[in-house]
Amino acid sequence: MNTALEALQADITTLDVDAIVNAANSSLLGGGGVDGAIHRAAGRELLEECRLLNGCRTGEAKMTKGHKLRARHVIHTVGPIWNGGTQREPGLLRACYENSLKLAAEHGLQSMAFPCISTGVYRFPPDQAAQIAVDTVREFMREPSSVRRVIFCCFGKSDFDLYQALLQ
Ligand code: ADP
Repeated sequence: MNTALEALQADITTLDVDAIVNAANSSLLGGGGVDGAIHRAAGRELLEECRLLNGCRTGEAKMTKGHKLRARHVIHTVGPIWNGGTQREPGLLRACYENSLKLAAEHGLQSMAFPCISTGVYRFPPDQAAQIAVDTVREFMREPSSVRRVIFCCFGKSDFDLYQALLQ
């Protein structure tokens, strides 16, 4: 089967994939934006499971079940807060994508969807973030692993356009 990268404009909570990635905060106990949407759609059991994880550091990733979501799993990763680019934000964002992909591969997952990590409340410039996301996933997909399909799930049209251009 061919590996595939694609951009989609959608609510990530609706996707039927092995894992959706959550742009969480370090407590893993829920927040606004995509994190809030995922917890609302997955139900209370997701929060119960997250409580057992003892949080997550920036750039790292932890996995839970999908509970009431169509997705089988949720990979929670914590993006960097943009601070002008001087606090290693690009490397930390890259680590979010890498560690999420590695975790998916360790569990034999085949399909996954990423939101535009850090580009909401954490204010990472969307164009730089999209470039890092696409480069990191492309590099990972060059090596053999279980992961066959990666969706860049964009909430807004402007993000969707950025990814479409990068994936041409
Ligand atoms: P962060 O704190 O990492 O910046 P946010 O949740 O504030 O995370 O924003 C990350 C991205 O997720 C933004 O591009 C935002 O538009 C997008 N987003 C918000 N809700 C959803 C959703 N239901 N599905 C997909 N993307 C979403």
